[in-house]
Formats: sequence, C-alpha cells, structure tokens
Amino acid sequence: MAGASRGESRGIAVVGASLGGLRAAEQLRAAGWHGAITVFGDEPHLPYNRPPLSKAVLAGHALAAGTELRRRPSVEDVEWRLGSAVTAADLTARTLTLTDGSVHMYEGLVAATGVRPRRLPMPGGPPRHVVRTLEDSTALAAGLAAGARVSVIGSGFIGCEVAATARTAGCAVTVVAPETEPMASALGPHLARALRLRHEARGVRFHMGRLATELTPEGCVLDDGTELRADLIVEAIGSLPNTEWLAATPGLDLTDGILCDAHLRIGGLPHAVAVGDVARFPNPRYGPVPRRVEHWSVPGDTARHAARTLVAALTGTP
Ligand SMILES: Cc1cc2nc3c(=O)[nH]c(=O)nc-3n(C[C@H](O)[C@H](O)[C@H](O)COP(=O)(O)OP(=O)(O)OC[C@H]3O[C@@H](n4cnc5c(N)ncnc54)[C@H](O)[C@@H]3O)c2cc1C
Repeated sequence: MAGASRGESRGIAVVGASLGGLRAAEQLRAAGWHGAITVFGDEPHLPYNRPPLSKAVLAGHALAAGTELRRRPSVEDVEWRLGSAVTAADLTARTLTLTDGSVHMYEGLVAATGVRPRRLPMPGGPPRHVVRTLEDSTALAAGLAAGARVSVIGSGFIGCEVAATARTAGCAVTVVAPETEPMASALGPHLARALRLRHEARGVRFHMGRLATELTPEGCVLDDGTELRADLIVEAIGSLPNTEWLAATPGLDLTDGILCDAHLRIGGLPHAVAVGDVARFPNPRYGPVPRRVEHWSVPGDTARHAARTLVAALTGTP
C-alpha cells in the first residue's frame, strides 16, 4: 500500500456490483442501516440479470440494456463505484485497496464477488467464448449465424442452454462432456437422458464420456482421437470463485469460495459477511457440510441474513 491515498471511513463497503451486491445494499437498508453504503464493481455496469445471457440476450430476443436489475428506492443514495476492482482487503485494519492504489476505509464489509468461468487449460483453437458477462453474451451472439459450427465443451446448465440457443439460431451444434448424460448431477440419470434425447431430436449432437484434449484452428480433438470441426468453441466447464482479493488475509478458508459460518460471517469476524455465489456456508437444506450454491435466489436469501448479522454487529443491537 506504499504511496496509497487514504480515504475517509465510508460506512459499509460492498465488493461486487451484481445481484448479490444489489440485494445486500437493499437488505442493509431493510435491516435498519442508515449510514453510507459504497458498492465496488469491476464491471462498468450497474447490476444486471445474468440468466437472460444464455437465453433471450444470446438469442437476440432481448436487448442487453433490458437486463438491468430494478433498484429499490431505498438504495437511491448508495454510491456505485463501477469499473473499480478491489485488489486487496485488510480485514483487521478494515481497508480495501482498489486497482488505482487508493485505499477505502470501511466499518462493515460485504463480499459479493461471485464467480468467473473456469477455462480449458490448453491454448489455441478457433474463437473461444464463455458466457458470464453482458459482453460475453453479445460477443457469442454475433458468432451464432445460421450454419456456423459450434462446439460446446461442458454439458451443465450453461452448456445445455447455449447449445439449445445456438441450435435455434440454425447452428450445427456439438456438445462434448465427460459425464454419461448432460446435467446428470443436477437432474439424475433418467431426466438427464430425456433432456439429451430432446436436444438430439432438435439436431444437437453429443459426445458424452469424452474430453477435449487439444484445440486447433479447425476445432477440437477429443480423447478418443475424434476431430470436431468448429467455427467457434464455447467453454462451459464450471466456475471459479472470485476470492483472490482476500488471499492475503490470514486465517480465511478460501477453498471453493469464502467459508462463512451459519450467520454468513467471514473468518468469525463480526463486521465481515459474504453473500451469493461466492459464499460457502452451512445450509440445513443441503446438509451439514458448508457449500456454495450458484442459483439466482441465493444472493437474495443470503443478503437478507447477512445484512441482519452485519447491522446487528455494527449497531450493537441483538
Ligand atoms: C449465463 C448465465 C445464466 C444463468 N441462468 C440462471 C438461471 O436460469 N437460473 C438461476 O437460478 N441462476 C442462473 N444463473 C446464476 C445466477 O445468475 C447467479 O447465481 C447470480 O448472478 C449470482 O450473483 P452474485 O452477485 O453472487 O455473483 P455474480 O453475478 O458473479 O457477481 C459478482 C460481481 O462481482 C464482480 N467482482 C468480482 N471480483 C471483484 C473485485 N475484486 N472487485 C470488484 N468487483 C468484483 C464481478 O465482476 C461481478 O460483477 C446464471 C448465470 C449465468 C452466468
């Protein structure tokens, strides 16, 4: 932090300006926090909805601008610091360091930094796409011309949704994944098989039980030697939690997300909580082992709980 400018204390800092960050700000107000709230987001946009990115926006049926999430009047006075990534945090001194080197002091912290796409570990290939941001979705949509050959690597939710959207656009679509059936872990074998048959009836070709081992300018090579010709590749092989900005904080468990207690507190600290995709927490619905859940409803649910935890700690109320 040498040479860094030191800002004044600004109430509660929320890191991540997406669904979780927005819901956290709203729930902090609902929980009775009247002080300042500053939300830092590395994307240039106000919070927007991601589900349409693999559906209506990708299909060209919805405008990117239409995905912006409605903000409740209670968060009108929230300060949005967009295009402003947090690079480090000191949870003891209660400071955040931003990309420009400036330092922001806070009283309470909400971590809402979500996840990013996991990438295939090899170089090369035809144009490669992922779908996480508005820019990702519009870039991929531009490549989904009728007749384009699209190889989707990964057969989870996003892989299957992209395959369906690309096929509807008239692309020749193949899906490659190591599992026996698409989305088998989420749906179970019978429903997963039915899903595959439905995709196949619409013309999607599957290479299940296979890995992509090499990317070439012409497409990809599978572990059985099959060469798939593709004009573009979509990498849909899962996600990685955005926790690097907390890596220097001693005592935190950042294995697959930020480990929280049942009140969403980070590292047992009363003034730091996590919400949304990045939070790994014990949830009686799924058993005693803490886990992350990447589902649209989780940022809202965790924000409600985390906001109560944080406001109670900062105001000294039960
Ligand atoms: C294509 C797609 C389709 C989906 N479809 C569905 C669906 O149909 N149903 C469903 O239930 N769920 C769906 N989801 C999942 C749902 O969108 C997520 O669960 C939700 O967006 C999680 O919100 P979040 O705020 O926790 O994380 P994110 O939305 O990932 O937001 C985190 C934000 O923090 C920012 N950030 C990260 N690091 C930093 C940093 N150091 N400093 C500042 N900012 C940072 C990120 O850039 C991002 O803007 C979909 C997701 C995607 C990508």
